[in-house]
Amino acid sequence: MKVITRFAPSPTGYLHVGGARTALFSYLYARHHGGQFELRIEDTDTERSTEASVNAIFEGMNWLGLEHDSEVKYQSKNLARYHEVIEQLLANDQAYYCDCSKARLDEMREAQMKKGEKPRYDGKCRNAGLEKSADTIIRFKTPQSGEVHFKDGVRGDITVANAELDDLVIARADGMPTYNFSVVIDDADMGITHVIRGDDHINNTPRQINIYKALDLPVPEFAHVPMILGDDGARLSKRHGAVSVMQYSDDGYLPEAVLNYLVRLGWSHGDQELFSKAEMIELFDLSGVNKAPSAFNTTKLNWINQQYLQQADDLRLVGLVQKRLETLGVHLPTELNLTQVVEMFKERAHTINELVDLGLFLLQPLDGYDEKAEKKAFKESAIEPLQAVIAKCEAIDDWAGADLHQLIADVVAELEVGFGKVGMPVRLALSGQAQGPANDEIMQVLGKDETINRLQNALSYLTEKFS
Ligand code: GLU
Repeated sequence: MKVITRFAPSPTGYLHVGGARTALFSYLYARHHGGQFELRIEDTDTERSTEASVNAIFEGMNWLGLEHDSEVKYQSKNLARYHEVIEQLLANDQAYYCDCSKARLDEMREAQMKKGEKPRYDGKCRNAGLEKSADTIIRFKTPQSGEVHFKDGVRGDITVANAELDDLVIARADGMPTYNFSVVIDDADMGITHVIRGDDHINNTPRQINIYKALDLPVPEFAHVPMILGDDGARLSKRHGAVSVMQYSDDGYLPEAVLNYLVRLGWSHGDQELFSKAEMIELFDLSGVNKAPSAFNTTKLNWINQQYLQQADDLRLVGLVQKRLETLGVHLPTELNLTQVVEMFKERAHTINELVDLGLFLLQPLDGYDEKAEKKAFKESAIEPLQAVIAKCEAIDDWAGADLHQLIADVVAELEVGFGKVGMPVRLALSGQAQGPANDEIMQVLGKDETINRLQNALSYLTEKFS
């Protein structure tokens, strides 16, 4: 049997972390078994569905590289098919019109809750033989005895007595089919063999199985993946930071790192942490999916991203750094070599954005000096070393080939002072900070003109300060 899975988001927002993780598991399951992965947009809720959200879902899937095999299916374009099946159910006495008012249903629900019962429809219209009218909805005749059993790919055996289930609404008064109905028709029509989805749907599954059975359709396998919690144990929400997948792109994460992070949210293979996409496909199976909810952990995401940054091709990182600089509105001096900046910080940064922050002092003019560092490094005694370094810099013709470390060492030797008496003011003059990469590396990246320019600026600043 060929495995066919799907991701079936409702387009009512961006692609969030939970959705992306569900999509990834469905994707990996299909790829692992040499099957197909499909995308279906569940947009029958016309009030909440938006085109912007559909595009955000495409964008997120695309960024993560979760490619689907067939054309995207839209539920909103499949209404005729749902109506055809609903007519069939009505004709077979497997569904019926119901005109119970909202007030009656509310009252009933309240009374049931007061008695500590599960709210459920009492079946008033089940055998009333009502005809269609402006405000009739359509309910499915759930079997009144027996039970539904399925073996969940994650949770194991699940059995629910039909007596626990009520007659669920399959079409609203405006004729729109409900989720629990249309999902069955589509999964069946698309030949879905494995429904992998969030466990917020686990209570829907027995209801859906009853519809499959009523229509004599083959019932797929189901696997419900546990939800994702925030670092604090509460259900993951906006409060925990970025929940939209594309926010991670904006925040400077690499898609393969986010994908790697997502696969580890609820799935494991021994204690391995890093997985290429090919490895995920090779190793993924439902047996590795945890039953317990998994907690989001930003520190781990950052660690994973750092691992991928270190391995990433410098040219690619330069492109991403450029994009980030554009977003920040930083215009680069043309002579600046971004590859050197990337090389300088890629070991230390967790994200592209952090890399840019670390390197920003190289990429744009300094906007002052760190106050604490200034007290230590910009004393009157710093004037002479700065002058000496400037003079030596000016004398260099081949900057790229120059030994700039030696240049500073020579000044130290000539002035007969400690290394810090030269090194500290030079670092502050060049970077505005007390800490960072080695002076000679900074000078190399800045180039001769900008190095001298910054040293001169510091010198003028100091001369004025002590005049
Ligand atoms: N549209 C549903 C959702 O976004 C899909 C549920 C399912 O996968 O069956 O929750």
